[in-house]
Amino acid sequence: MTEDTISAVATAPGEGGIGIIRISGSEASVIAGKIFRPHSGRSVTDIASHHATYGTVIDPKTGETVDEALLLLMYAPHSYTKEDVAEIQCHGGMVSLRKILLLTYAYGARPAEPGEFTKRAFLNGRLDLTQAEAVIDVIRAKTDASQEMAVSQLTGKLSAKIGELRHNLLHQIAALEAAIDFPEEDIEETAVEETRQVVEATLGEIDTLLKGASVGRILKDGLKTVIVGKPNVGKSSLMNALAESERAIVTNVPGTTRDVIEEYINLGGIPLRIVDTAGIRETDDIVEKIGVEKSQEWIEQADLILFLLDVSREISEEDEDIFRLIEGKKALIILNKSDLTAKIDRADIEARGSGHTILTIAAQTGDGLDTLKEAITDLVYEGTVKQEESVLLTNTRQIHLLEKAARSLRGAEDTIGAGMPADCIVIDLRGAWETLGEVTGDAVGDDIIDQIFTQFCIGK
Ligand code: GDP
Repeated sequence: MTEDTISAVATAPGEGGIGIIRISGSEASVIAGKIFRPHSGRSVTDIASHHATYGTVIDPKTGETVDEALLLLMYAPHSYTKEDVAEIQCHGGMVSLRKILLLTYAYGARPAEPGEFTKRAFLNGRLDLTQAEAVIDVIRAKTDASQEMAVSQLTGKLSAKIGELRHNLLHQIAALEAAIDFPEEDIEETAVEETRQVVEATLGEIDTLLKGASVGRILKDGLKTVIVGKPNVGKSSLMNALAESERAIVTNVPGTTRDVIEEYINLGGIPLRIVDTAGIRETDDIVEKIGVEKSQEWIEQADLILFLLDVSREISEEDEDIFRLIEGKKALIILNKSDLTAKIDRADIEARGSGHTILTIAAQTGDGLDTLKEAITDLVYEGTVKQEESVLLTNTRQIHLLEKAARSLRGAEDTIGAGMPADCIVIDLRGAWETLGEVTGDAVGDDIIDQIFTQFCIGK
């Protein structure tokens, strides 16, 4: 357990009905005892764990009342960090919170670093690394689907899967080592054959996990979407129609230098991250004003391109340019203004569309929007099994490690195929086993741990 007692405001900055100061560490209840007076007149040391107690926070030096509050003590190991935790719920004003926080510092706590509470939960064995990483995903989730995915990881689904794979590999390592130790018993051939099967099955499982990763990442980070088309085809209208029918979420993503405002549209659980919405809205004429070059850049960066055409106008040169730009990209061709007389022949579009799905909508009336949403969902889930139960990877660190483990396992396959001795196979299996251990944090360095937890906000 860590020595220091830490404290931080655990609630979001700004005004709120209540605000919470969280203190964790061996001194948590002592500090609370110094600055909190239960209304009942009892001592803080008499308060049972997990019972809310009404009282006031006072400045012990002056005896002044700082705020009315509730105190919640959670004694180790039954707390978020597995340490003694005191939570003071006061009024959610910045001044109250700051004053109380300063009092906790004055009486023995030090400011918590970003993610330090969760880091302690990890270091004290309450969460493994995938679960700790899920905490941040739960907090940042943009839609129900991404939140559910993060909660599933938080409850240990990914850990369980990785644990199972590691267990199977370890079993084979032991079998091979036994064969090496007792060569006279002629068990090597059986052990190697069994290992071959386990390696094949494990590779299959890792492959499924990695396939789900693209969906997982989209659910977590959003689908970077760009609407392209010549002026007046209805880009803004489509944007607005999507935003109106679905809940648009504007979030503040803390960046390195300044905050970036992003808009998300929740489309059947998939957060559509409309790229630089303001840009699209301000620039009526994305193709003309910013030029083909710029739209090429947007198209390159996007996960999904919605290419809009106006059926009431003939196909123009600008349209032709965009057709070329979207070749080989994830794109949907959308014929807008279906309520007007068509001057575009669908067969013409098909000939130019290089296999992209073609849809007809009327952004203004909302006609065809449901089909469009379905087409987007289908594109996202393309090639993956859409299962409620499946574990979806979202985290680049985890994805890289699984890819690395797969490489070791393919190495083992080659070693087996080449008829190499059992101890060579063991080396590859151990490599895979250790790499999988890094996913759950059974074997990771302090630098990785620090890197993970500094992504958290202070107070978490
Ligand atoms: P943008 O320049 O591509 O963003 O196009 P806008 O969204 O500003 O739309 C251009 C014009 O087309 C506006 O006058 C819209 O009202 C109109 N418009 C958009 N969608 C439709 C549609 O489905 N049917 C009809 N008839 N008009 C539409």
